[in-house]
Amino acid sequence: MAKVNIPTFKLNNGREIPALGYGTWLGLDSKMEFSVEDLPKMMEALSYAIDVGYRHVDTAHLYRVEPEVGQVVNRKIKEGVVKREEVFVTTKVWHHFHREADVEVSVRGSLRRMGLDYFDLVLMHWPMSITQDGVDEKIDYLETWRGFENVLQKGLAKSIGVSNFNVEQIKRLLANCKVPPACNQVEINLNLGQKELVDLCQSHNIVVVAYSPFGTMVPSRAAPDSPEPKLNNPTMVALGKKHGKTVTQITLRYLYQRGIISIPKTVTKSRVLENASIFDFTLDNADMATLAAFDNGYRTVRPVFWQDYANYPFDKVPGAKVLIPQSLCVWKNGINLDID
Ligand code: NDP
Repeated sequence: MAKVNIPTFKLNNGREIPALGYGTWLGLDSKMEFSVEDLPKMMEALSYAIDVGYRHVDTAHLYRVEPEVGQVVNRKIKEGVVKREEVFVTTKVWHHFHREADVEVSVRGSLRRMGLDYFDLVLMHWPMSITQDGVDEKIDYLETWRGFENVLQKGLAKSIGVSNFNVEQIKRLLANCKVPPACNQVEINLNLGQKELVDLCQSHNIVVVAYSPFGTMVPSRAAPDSPEPKLNNPTMVALGKKHGKTVTQITLRYLYQRGIISIPKTVTKSRVLENASIFDFTLDNADMATLAAFDNGYRTVRPVFWQDYANYPFDKVPGAKVLIPQSLCVWKNGINLDID
């Protein structure tokens, strides 16, 4: 069987995190409802990913798939493919659980669903705090962070971090925490370079993890008004040819050379292998500059339905008034959507 060898980065607590992980968000369908039909395929692809050498899985309470992701990880441990301490498992606390004491409730729920006794990393999914009914609780994320420090201290998580925090929020958190975040997971891709945020995090030894690393480059994510580059972009195709790699591999390698971890999601086995086969070539300075020039600040993930909530981290779109999709408010977990 083909194998990949994925290097690691060091977190600010001395622990190691693989530089590329497997993302598990299956997304919402056109009706903004969670689509479960790809879950069996994802379980197979994740199983294959671990077989070929992936050692990092990114999931979240919101994704509904914690039970199945946990099953696959535990099966691989049972089969002797990996030991628990060799797999880096991340989950996230949703913004219904932002009271200090509720963070532990959320993390224990995730552990139960996944059949694990600790996480390698637990992230605050968003800086806002919103109830299941859509009420803005306005809980300060500094209070929530004390809950994170608590789960770290109790050993439920080996490392703690944040997600979707902007520059000001990272600065304020750093100035007011006992334990600094080990990680900030944010959208980064060729259209959204996030240089200021990445520089800030890296200067404080906060590892940056890129979600949606392909942005709108891949057909499944292309929006009508979305900018270049797409998979057939001539500049990207030429770079691919130069290095004997695919356009998506060039993209992931670019992020790696910026010191950024990627967590691409794919339910396609061939892409599992393709996405991790990026550690055997180097982009030169001219290539890096060419790729950097695609940065135009375009966001693929722009949840405008939260934009009037306290601590929303992104620029607002004037006049956008959209209801929060029900599927982001209340849900059950697992393939039959019947697990609390
Ligand atoms: P990605 O950038 O990973 O894109 C996923 C899409 O790209 C899928 O349609 C997949 O298709 C396709 N794809 C994957 N690899 C290739 C390839 N080599 N060639 C062509 N197409 C490819 O987007 P995501 O939004 O899923 O982000 C990745 C992960 O980040 C998520 O799964 C989740 O774990 C995390 N995330 C975190 C967020 C947060 O708020 N913290 C927000 C969003 C995501 P297919 O599956 O059909 O192969």
